[in-house]
Amino acid sequence: MTPRLFSELGLSPELLKAVDKLGFEQASPIQAEAIPVLLAGRDVVGQSQTGSGKTAAFAIPAIEKSDPHRKSTQTLILCPTRELAVQVSEEIHRLALFKRGIHSLPIYGGQSYERQFWGLQQGAQIVIGTPGRLMDHMRRGTLSLESVRMVILDEADVMLDMGFREDIELILRSVPAERQTVFFSATLPAAIRELISRYSRDPLTVQIQQKTLTVPTVDQVYYEVDRRFKIELLTRLIDIHDLKLGIIFCNTKRMVDDLADHLEAQGYSADRLHGDMSQAMRDRVMNKFRKSGLEFLVATDVAARGIDVDDIQVVFNYDLPYDVEDYVHRIGRTGRAGRSGRAITFVAGREIFQIRNIERFANIRIHRARIPTTGEVEEARTHLVIDRLRSVLKKGDYPRQDHLLERLLEEGYSSTDIASALLHQLQGGDSPDTGRPKRDSSPTRQEREFHQPVHNPEPPRLPPPPRARAPKKAPEAPAELDKAPEWVRRKTGASPRSTLPPWHRDDSEIEQTRLWVNAGAEMGIQAGDVVGAILGETGLPAGTVGTVDIRERHLFVDVATEHAETILAKLRHIRLKGHRLKAKVA
Ligand code: AMP
Repeated sequence: MTPRLFSELGLSPELLKAVDKLGFEQASPIQAEAIPVLLAGRDVVGQSQTGSGKTAAFAIPAIEKSDPHRKSTQTLILCPTRELAVQVSEEIHRLALFKRGIHSLPIYGGQSYERQFWGLQQGAQIVIGTPGRLMDHMRRGTLSLESVRMVILDEADVMLDMGFREDIELILRSVPAERQTVFFSATLPAAIRELISRYSRDPLTVQIQQKTLTVPTVDQVYYEVDRRFKIELLTRLIDIHDLKLGIIFCNTKRMVDDLADHLEAQGYSADRLHGDMSQAMRDRVMNKFRKSGLEFLVATDVAARGIDVDDIQVVFNYDLPYDVEDYVHRIGRTGRAGRSGRAITFVAGREIFQIRNIERFANIRIHRARIPTTGEVEEARTHLVIDRLRSVLKKGDYPRQDHLLERLLEEGYSSTDIASALLHQLQGGDSPDTGRPKRDSSPTRQEREFHQPVHNPEPPRLPPPPRARAPKKAPEAPAELDKAPEWVRRKTGASPRSTLPPWHRDDSEIEQTRLWVNAGAEMGIQAGDVVGAILGETGLPAGTVGTVDIRERHLFVDVATEHAETILAKLRHIRLKGHRLKAKVA
């Protein structure tokens, strides 16, 4: 079997470090197949789609083979569109982070020539461009190809469809014959095969074989959603379908951590499972999940391999899996033992091609679903509240509260007033838990953007979704805290009594904001360090800082909202245990 660990692919320590930093847990099938062959110097034809990890499959060898001591262009990557050229360039930048002296430069139509001349003059070992603009630079003499040792054609079939054949051939004829030629293409029609045979030497075709798959009978849908709105959509779907037990799959460890933190911060009962956790930690999380002590498990494919829980209601593909097999494995976690199950997949941008691929190979239909509006989420929540109330009324096993009701009736409120106010509270409106007003259900500008996905990588702050759940609270009674296991104490501060701020005694009095800070247990940080740093730097009173929730590599701290900005500004300028801090609102 082809190795799937990056450490088995013969990469340099710098690349391994970058891959780890990106949170890639294992090589995708196309990477595992192509990287060793490319590193060995052979020509490759890779047949794979967007979403398969193909960019890193050719970018990693391109970086490894670049000589940082020579500024000349050594690898030329041809892409059909500017978007793809920029995307590839960004991926190379992230992967080459720890390789000193390696530079990449995207060159595409629409960008000013001056900028590109300047970039080329500075020297970039890896140049990524659209054929037309590359030709322009070749003609002007601003791009020299004499040192090129590797040419990569990304999405070669698309480039031919777009009419770039002549340009491509001219470029291929202008680079030295002593080179590696790499074709990546989703399909291999005759025109591509002809190009391959004319311009490459004995290439190895790397194709990920699709096995015959047995797909469980699970209701499968996908949502087309811009990356920045995925969390919002996820929480809406959880609320609207009242989901209680599910697995959320992400492709990277980093995404797993981020998402689990977000969900927890928003009051969902969620935890994580990925390859960076010790076996003991994983066992603990799994046990909790099995015993329904957790509603959502955010996991990578590798970590989720052994999960054998029967009544999982839903599997979310928060990130689209790389291959059909992973998709089928993931969704096989739900709908077990004759139960009904749901598989919900998020698709961003060009990944829609991968959905078609999955449908084709697994011989299934995945239906496109419409993103629910805030109004619909509200309505679903109302139904839920009424249903729950009806069932309590039907059973009749609740203690009577006549004396309380009489007190309110005496104060002049009608029974309808009282019932309406209670219902309003049950729906989360002006809830003392969140202190947040109920969300207006008329669509905001962001809401409209959400329904018409745009391509901007910067996540905006969307208003939080209406929530049927109470946010996670810190343990209230200090006596209980003393009995709590170590991890609870660590989450709530080194000395529970001394760090408990006034609002733990009365939640509604002080409005608090949760901050995220990039320092955690791994750096030896303790709650006292954080509280001390904040109070010492700002001179604010002790009650300003609340719960400190310390994780491995970051922490959350609750602070009084009115001082949040001041605290953030200070935190961003100090060092804690020699570590430069980054902080933001969680
Ligand atoms: P691509 O198919 O190159 O468009 O890659 C799709 C996405 O997967 C990109 O966001 C990559 O950063 C990411 N990616 C690539 N390789 C891996 C990997 N081995 N593990 C996790 N994510 C990856």
